[in-house]
Amino acid sequence: MRTKLEKVGYANRIFALILALSVVMSLFLFRSVQIHAEDEIPAYSGKASVELNKNVPGFTADEITTSSFESYGELDKLGRVTTALACIGQDLMPTKDRESITDVRPTGWKQNKYPGVVDSDPPYLYNRCHMIGFQLTGENANEKNLITGTRYMNVEGMLPYENEVADYIRDTGKHVMYRVTPVFTGNNLLCDGVQIEAYSVEDKGRGVSFNVFCYNVQPGITIDYKDGSNKLSPETNKAVDANSFIITGGDSGNGSVRSSTGSEASDIPAGTTYVLNKNSKKFHIPTCDSVKDMKEKNKEYSTKTRSEIIADGYDPCKRCNP
Ligand SMILES: [Zn+2]
Repeated sequence: MRTKLEKVGYANRIFALILALSVVMSLFLFRSVQIHAEDEIPAYSGKASVELNKNVPGFTADEITTSSFESYGELDKLGRVTTALACIGQDLMPTKDRESITDVRPTGWKQNKYPGVVDSDPPYLYNRCHMIGFQLTGENANEKNLITGTRYMNVEGMLPYENEVADYIRDTGKHVMYRVTPVFTGNNLLCDGVQIEAYSVEDKGRGVSFNVFCYNVQPGITIDYKDGSNKLSPETNKAVDANSFIITGGDSGNGSVRSSTGSEASDIPAGTTYVLNKNSKKFHIPTCDSVKDMKEKNKEYSTKTRSEIIADGYDPCKRCNP
């Protein structure tokens, strides 16, 4: 009798142990599926983006495919954009020019101009940022794919990654798994930033593989993420007052070049991959300081890939190393 009871007790303990283990395991599994960037994101420290999870993207085996598709999550109950996921191939890339997207009003859209602080013309703080860049899937006014993002996040944060993926696909004809996840704190209407994951499928990530977070910040501006409202940071206020004449000069009078973006806040047409100098035959990333110094008549906003531009006889700038 006694041994039998002991056996029962032993079995119970084993059972409890298995139960506990399975709870732990399921928590672990759940966590590894629900990759949520927010608990790993370091505070902004002067760089437009930061690597997450040692730069390893979180696509699961059953998500990865060589069939092109694009899917955009439904807006949440606050009207906020959710995750966009795609397998991008050449067949999804745009063949037509971009249409106007100014009808879309993403959450947190409290637009303001900051001459001398935001480096664009007109100097609007916010852009309607494509979650999946226009040059990748050619989506126009899709409200599930447009998010309120600072000029800085759009151009310094997201664009270099979008270009890397677009260049790879155009050059190789292969596929890239691509996921963009906006990260909102609580019920905030403006996101803290976006996570971008990419993975080239046919070569198992040898061509493209990254997992990054781009910060939705604008140096010099203080933003309230609850609703997107914004103002000059106190220290910027002084600097701008002292230098109120210094508004990036020499860039006016090129409305015809820029009209292709409609009234979007940008001096660089969306879809631009590189800026060419027709005179020096050098090409640059759009944010290169040399672009600001360039004469407008020498500028060309290209949507071609790096290798196509080189084939056209252009050399990469030594300053920005595009
Ligand atoms: Zn350059």
